[in-house]
Amino acid sequence: MTDAFTLFERHVNPGLAGLLRFTGLDRVESHAEGPYVWDTTGKRYLDFLGLYGTLNLGHRHPRVVEAVKRQLDRMPMSVRILVSEPTARLAAKLAEITPEGLEMVFFGNSGAEAVEAAIKLARAHTGRPTLVTTEGGFHGKTMGALSLTPRPQYQDPAKPLLPGVRVVPYGDLKALEEAMDETVAAVIVEPVQGEGGIRVPPEGYLRGVRELTRRWGALMIADEVQTGLGRTGKLWGVEWEAVAPDLLTSAKALGGGVMPIGACVGRPEVFSVFKENPLYHSSTFGGNPLAAAAALAAIEVTLEENLPQRALEVGAYLMEGLKGLAEAFPHLIAEVRGRGLMLGVEFQDADIGALVVAELAERGVLTAFGLNNPQVVRLEPPLIIGKEHVDEALSALEESLKATEKALEGLL
Ligand code: PMP
Repeated sequence: MTDAFTLFERHVNPGLAGLLRFTGLDRVESHAEGPYVWDTTGKRYLDFLGLYGTLNLGHRHPRVVEAVKRQLDRMPMSVRILVSEPTARLAAKLAEITPEGLEMVFFGNSGAEAVEAAIKLARAHTGRPTLVTTEGGFHGKTMGALSLTPRPQYQDPAKPLLPGVRVVPYGDLKALEEAMDETVAAVIVEPVQGEGGIRVPPEGYLRGVRELTRRWGALMIADEVQTGLGRTGKLWGVEWEAVAPDLLTSAKALGGGVMPIGACVGRPEVFSVFKENPLYHSSTFGGNPLAAAAALAAIEVTLEENLPQRALEVGAYLMEGLKGLAEAFPHLIAEVRGRGLMLGVEFQDADIGALVVAELAERGVLTAFGLNNPQVVRLEPPLIIGKEHVDEALSALEESLKATEKALEGLL
């Protein structure tokens, strides 16, 4: 029987398979539990990638699994012309836990779908065409979301994109002010850039975006697909500056690491298009009962176990260890940065980053394998980890840095 990696390489994505092979990750996953995942050879990995901010509760959190099983036995799929109870309850829960004034929810199945909804709502509400996004911003790869994700390697082959998009440097309020006019429908911004290489904006940036958008009658869209649900040490990334956006997108961790779901939460006025035009935007699977049941359980666990606070504490401990390693290996590590358990290690160059990722995988630690910023290795472990897991990762990282140093001997 042909092994699954070969099938993937042949039928899914040969380019990606080649990259995985290069990093020594030409493996097939078998099963997972909590912060650990096993491949089919029985090798165990500590998952410090967490599906880019999805596995806040780790793999197969028992309360999420139980909630999904219960819903599976009852009604996994909505008929859509009756109301789904878990979906309605989830919408109310999101209205309760998101910043002030956000009361209405549109459900999709992914981060990109949440962003697509935000784009359509912003244009419908303001009647304006222009969308402002940031350099390094990542909002998904469907056509609308892609148009807000300024990366030539993703955008160029798919052109023409959505018209009316302006790109400004991230963290720069002056540039944003210059890009604002009465045609701007919305400004979309991540509270911390994830795919952009873990960029924390300067203090006051989110507040500044809020003020500028308000002044120009434009909407502020906070893309919390990666930062949401505790990742940065607050339930939502915008809480770092006590900002309430007009629209907030969530996905990834919202499904509890078990189901795919995306949500766009917003102020009622921004959703008023649905009053005259109830099917202006819809999705067959969006917010289906199984995904909604998973999300309700995920939110409950996140709040009950105070995972944002845990992310802050465990994140500070991890950051301290990373800083120590940055001091010990300054010729390899340029900078460590981030917030909560959304951390990035910037290496002196991309090749060093790739070598370290491969060495870490060899030692049983998975980290973000990124092509956007290959010199930045991202650490986004489950928020349920303890200091023992951090110690395990740090010691593997130290060994990996030593091995990388050795491999580069004479070259540095
Ligand atoms: N927005 C942000 C901030 C993201 O990080 C991502 C995914 N990395 C997306 C949107 C797109 O999410 P998805 O992959 O679920 O479409």
